[in-house]
Amino acid sequence: MIVNEIRCKSILNKSGIPGIDYALNPYTGCEHGCRYCYAIFMKRFSNHKEEWGSFVDVKINAPNVLREQLKKAKPGKVSLSTVTDPYQPLEKKYEITRKCLKELVQCDFPVSILTKSKLVVRDIDLFRKLKEIDVGFSIGLSDERIKMIFEPKSASIKKRFNALHYLAREGIKTWIFFSPVLPYLSDTEEHINQLFEKAENACVDYVLVDTLQLYPKVWNKVQRILQRFYPDFIPLYKQYLFHKDSYKNEMKGKVLKIAQNHNLPCKFTY
Ligand code: SF4
Repeated sequence: MIVNEIRCKSILNKSGIPGIDYALNPYTGCEHGCRYCYAIFMKRFSNHKEEWGSFVDVKINAPNVLREQLKKAKPGKVSLSTVTDPYQPLEKKYEITRKCLKELVQCDFPVSILTKSKLVVRDIDLFRKLKEIDVGFSIGLSDERIKMIFEPKSASIKKRFNALHYLAREGIKTWIFFSPVLPYLSDTEEHINQLFEKAENACVDYVLVDTLQLYPKVWNKVQRILQRFYPDFIPLYKQYLFHKDSYKNEMKGKVLKIAQNHNLPCKFTY
């Protein structure tokens, strides 16, 4: 892993995501290196030629920059994070996310966290001090074997559900980002049922669903994985590329029906 300590000019950036006012990314790059990660486009902005998942830039001055920006910023919801995992393993050493949260506690900005790491529970003391906080876990797969193929370096699904349950029991609002739904791998009724069953047992507040975004660079990576593990699916994924709208509608109907059976609120990004 190539780790660079860098200094950023800005850390609280306006976001175009519905319901989110600011994006806060304490790191550029992500140790988890998920095979379908759409944030791979960050390589272009950070001049990295290395493989996505093999480098991380640590924004060591982020808490100080944030403190200054918060003095002038209009109050709004902050997402940690949109193009990195704020609790990837390096956070244990650097604590950039934790230090940024301390700044946000001071000014009462609402915070929304999205991660794949159980390290998030470390900061429960700060969550309790925030006026508004929700913690989401990305869980696109409930089968650990398929997870190892697409997300070899992130926490197991079991650990994510355990962390969600712990946070929910402690009174923190929690949610699951069921994303990306992988066609033919995590979109079967059986798979979705399993996921909602585990979500219900973990007492999460709701599930947010998004489908797979196959930008050209992402498609290249996903195609390499399919070639190796699921070669028969390649023609099916090509079909998906050209019929995404009908797929999305079909998925919506399927997920809503299952969500109803589990009495769990469900939202969609589309
Ligand atoms: S954890 Fe999120 S940001 Fe990190 S590689 Fe995976 S999908 Fe990308």
